[in-house]
Amino acid sequence: MKCDQLMCYWVRDSHDPDHYVCLKCNEERHVNHSATPETFVMLFFLGLFLTILLRSL
Ligand SMILES: [Zn+2]
Repeated sequence: MKCDQLMCYWVRDSHDPDHYVCLKCNEERHVNHSATPETFVMLFFLGLFLTILLRSL
């Protein structure tokens, strides 16, 4: 049985806090708590934005 991922009933693996399993379809998901490339891109733009902001003062 496969369910819509939005409807998945995620339960955390008691042995691995980064590992989630859906009770309905047994879909597995690993949650990585370390920084993703998106985080670095976001920080880069945030820094760029602050630089422009500070220069305009
Ligand atoms: Zn599911």
